[in-house]
Amino acid sequence: MHAFQHSDGYIKWLMQSIKNVVQGKREVCLLCGAAKSNQTTLKLCAKCVHDIPWIKHLQCMHCGRAAHCPDCKRNEIKYIHANRSAVSYTPVMKQWLALYKFRGQEMLLPLFVDMMIIGMETHYHPLLAQRKANIIVSFVPTSRERNIERGFNQAQQLAEGVALYYDLDCMQLVDRIQHTEKQSRQNREQRKIALRDAFHFNPASTHVVSQWRQRRVPMIVLLIDDVYTTGSTLNACAKCIVQALPDAVVYSLCWSRA
Ligand SMILES: [Zn+2]
Ligand SMILES: [Zn+2]
Repeated sequence: MHAFQHSDGYIKWLMQSIKNVVQGKREVCLLCGAAKSNQTTLKLCAKCVHDIPWIKHLQCMHCGRAAHCPDCKRNEIKYIHANRSAVSYTPVMKQWLALYKFRGQEMLLPLFVDMMIIGMETHYHPLLAQRKANIIVSFVPTSRERNIERGFNQAQQLAEGVALYYDLDCMQLVDRIQHTEKQSRQNREQRKIALRDAFHFNPASTHVVSQWRQRRVPMIVLLIDDVYTTGSTLNACAKCIVQALPDAVVYSLCWSRA
């Protein structure tokens, strides 16, 4: 669907919002248009806030999963130092992401950024205690074809939002070479092969490399993506970064953990 076409959900939201504004309830839920709850800083109603499955207690300290994790035992995700995610990828979260991603509802971006910041505050305190100048925020690139089709890269938008909030530099350190087939249609082995050559270090950021080499301080890269599924995409990106910047330590923050 074209980014500027409005979905039925959007029209419904708009009508509900107009009704609430007319009735004097100025602040409305970004997702369903009901009156905003004053129990939260998020622009959501009480019901929508209640639906958020925040990740609070981790079972896997590597990928930040709230449940038993067989993935990390395979030891394939070795270029990512640690991943943390704000929420679990439940069917409701899947719907929210679809609203933001596929229906062109870019107005949901502030909500997703706010949720990323809550994830950051919950899980990455030690990271935030580092000197700001030593951290670079980056993101998983999408293929050009998909960027054109969707009109924006959600990982980049989230990264820019997080960087802006914490006053950190944001830079595209990794570029995507080929259009890999939708990950959901591939099995683990196919995915690995497709990802092997999918990314390379972004030539536009090589000046960063030389600057960092001169400074001789370890660089922390915070890679941003929307959903952590197997970690293989993030790992492939982190590999490019570590190959170009051997001293870099790559952390990742995703909006949700599948
Ligand atoms: Zn709501
Ligand atoms: Zn894990």
